[in-house]
Amino acid sequence: MNMKKKKLLWLRGFMLIGAFLVMLVAIRISSDKIRTNLEMEIQKTLQDVAEQNVIAVKREIESKQMLLKSLAQNRHSFASSQENIIEHLKPFVDIYQFKRIGFVYPDGTVFTTDGYVHDVSYRDYYRKGLQGKADITDAIDEAIGGENELINVFSMPVFGEDGVSVEGILFATYRTSQFQDLLNIKSFDEKGYSFIVKKNGNFITNSEANPIQQEQNLFDALETASVENRDVVRTLQQAMTAGEHGTIKYWYGMEKYLYYIPLEIIADSQWYIITTVPEAVISERLTPVMRTVDGLFATMIAVVMVSIMAYVYSGHKKHQELMRIAYEDPLTGGDNYASFQEKMELKQNVPGFLISLDISGFKIVNNTCGVDKGDEVIRSVWNILRESIRPGELAAHVNADYFVLFMEGTKKDALQLRLNQIIAKITALSEQLKLPRLVAVAGIYQGEIHDDLEKCYGYANQAKHQLKERRNQNYAFYDEMDFQHMLTIRNIEDNFEEALKKKRFEVWYQPKYCVATGQAVGAEALVRWRKKDGNLMPPGEFIPVIEKNGMIPLLDDYMFRQVCEQIQEWEKQGKRILPVSVNISRVSLYYADIVARCRRELESFGLKTDYIQLEITESAVVGNNEIASLIEQFKAAGFKMLLDDFGNGYSSLAALNAMRFDVLKLDKSLVDHIGDANGEKLLHYIIRLAQSLGLSITAEGVEYREQVEFLKSQGCDDIQGYYFSKPLPLAEYEKVLDRVLSEA
Ligand code: C2E
Ligand code: CA
Ligand code: CA
Repeated sequence: MNMKKKKLLWLRGFMLIGAFLVMLVAIRISSDKIRTNLEMEIQKTLQDVAEQNVIAVKREIESKQMLLKSLAQNRHSFASSQENIIEHLKPFVDIYQFKRIGFVYPDGTVFTTDGYVHDVSYRDYYRKGLQGKADITDAIDEAIGGENELINVFSMPVFGEDGVSVEGILFATYRTSQFQDLLNIKSFDEKGYSFIVKKNGNFITNSEANPIQQEQNLFDALETASVENRDVVRTLQQAMTAGEHGTIKYWYGMEKYLYYIPLEIIADSQWYIITTVPEAVISERLTPVMRTVDGLFATMIAVVMVSIMAYVYSGHKKHQELMRIAYEDPLTGGDNYASFQEKMELKQNVPGFLISLDISGFKIVNNTCGVDKGDEVIRSVWNILRESIRPGELAAHVNADYFVLFMEGTKKDALQLRLNQIIAKITALSEQLKLPRLVAVAGIYQGEIHDDLEKCYGYANQAKHQLKERRNQNYAFYDEMDFQHMLTIRNIEDNFEEALKKKRFEVWYQPKYCVATGQAVGAEALVRWRKKDGNLMPPGEFIPVIEKNGMIPLLDDYMFRQVCEQIQEWEKQGKRILPVSVNISRVSLYYADIVARCRRELESFGLKTDYIQLEITESAVVGNNEIASLIEQFKAAGFKMLLDDFGNGYSSLAALNAMRFDVLKLDKSLVDHIGDANGEKLLHYIIRLAQSLGLSITAEGVEYREQVEFLKSQGCDDIQGYYFSKPLPLAEYEKVLDRVLSEA
């Protein structure tokens, strides 16, 4: 898998996980929000309960105060006797659920409705009363009547006629427990408590049921219950001092909520109504709701998870299908090159051989036996390759008849053994499939293939291509290739056509001499490539290259035309003209119109056919049945035909008889045998045979006097060789021509 794809896959994974996390967080947030909302709702209830209590307590107190106030305003009733006052007050005790009502005289003596006389001058409400202020006391111990209980005393001054002087204080005793009864409104399944405290934390009401109310002071009780309440107490004290209301959480045997709200009955009220409820009650109420919410979210998560999984699975399926399409070769069902590339990434540090393999006879199979047969060949070859690789090694069908393999190891000879087996099996296929010869050729790159697979595959291919020039070899290693040679070939192929266009090819002339007279009798036109740097490239270097790539006919045409032009020029100059032989390569002979073209060319320059001779190499003649008729056509057109390079490996004396050449050119390799008995004997017979067939003989590559002597003795007609002259540039050759003319 390449890096890009890997990254993409990771990215998708992260995105999915990210999306999932975002969802979880969102669910968590909304769940929290719902919880907070619910909590707020419950706290609101708590507050409502507390406010209800406040209203109840307020109403209770106000109604009592209103009573005292209206009683006090009726001044006259207090101007009468003690008994009358008491009688007047008595009925209100029961109606208003007081313990007793009384009238305090300015000296502090109180007369009560139930007949007690008491001194209350030490009480705060007495002092306040004298100052003209109404009051409600905290819960205080009952001092009258010996009944030990907590009471609150409501007091109201009775003013004189001036409305300022205090004539007495109206006084009503209220059982504190009655407040508690008011507050014991059932709330929160009877787990909630309400009570009244003073701003300093002292309890106004107490309750048997509520443990905390059995303490003296709320703040002290909280602090003793848990150190964690210290902050709670501080906050509560501050809030209560400021007269604020609110909710706070505290610990008292369990976690509890506390709502505090001031009881603003009188101007400088110090009372607070507190309502508390255990946290558990709230969470108990929360739980079913939250359970529903959580259930909802769980369902949501499940649905989303299932969708994600379904998506991922379908993606995976799709991915697999895409992978199959992208990485599977449709013809073989095996790996294709893309898959090979991917798998090679895992082989980066493995020493081995990268092999490019193809079937050299494959195109013939495809063209002659049909594509189906071709496909069968590919599949069969694939099976051979697949069976030949070991676990961990790789093979792939690239396209057409191209395969690529990666075989592990470092030893060339071991690889060669394996490769030979593969090649033998592929060769054997031809017989099995009844096909023309299938030959596997392979180029091999050896070494570790890091991230440069393309390059290495290119090297293996280069090695394979080089191989195709050599018929006797099935595989080649890249590191054994002659790079300089390849470069030169490349250079020649790339520059040939342009050089031709720019006439960078020069015609040199190698004179031929008559053995009998020692006179120049003609010349062979030989090509030279004038390079840009001024140097000459000999034809031995570039002719084989352009012969192989099929461009040589262009050069043949060019040379033919150049020579025609030159002869025309000599004609114009009035020179006597010696015939020039021009080389026609084997490839040119395949063009059916070659004869007509040569004739037309010659005619276009207005030249006689006597001036131009044609050399055809022996190797072109052997095995080409149509050559005989071509020779006839050339001859019919008036050209003199020379059989070139005779004796250079391909000799077929029979061909000599079959084709009516005019001249036989003995190859240098035969001439080189002069001096050796067998060689001389062979030359002797060849010359005799040629003479008997009516051919004249030109010997090539003659360098020594002894060779000249022998050839002369054998009746050889002409000699072309360094002994007389090397190939000459035009100007030099013209000097030779001038000499010949002056001697004539
Ligand atoms: P070739 O047609 O057999 O040409 C004769 C070659 O032998 C020439 O080499 C020539 O220089 C060389 N030679 C002649 N006498 C001697 C000698 O005494 N000793 C030695 N060592 N060599 C001698 P060159 O010019 O290098 O040409 C090589 C080949 O290139 C030619 O062989 C011919 O096959 C091809 N060629 C050259 N010019 C042309 C051309 O214009 N067209 C075609 N198609 N082929 C050409
Ligand atoms: Ca020649
Ligand atoms: Ca030759």
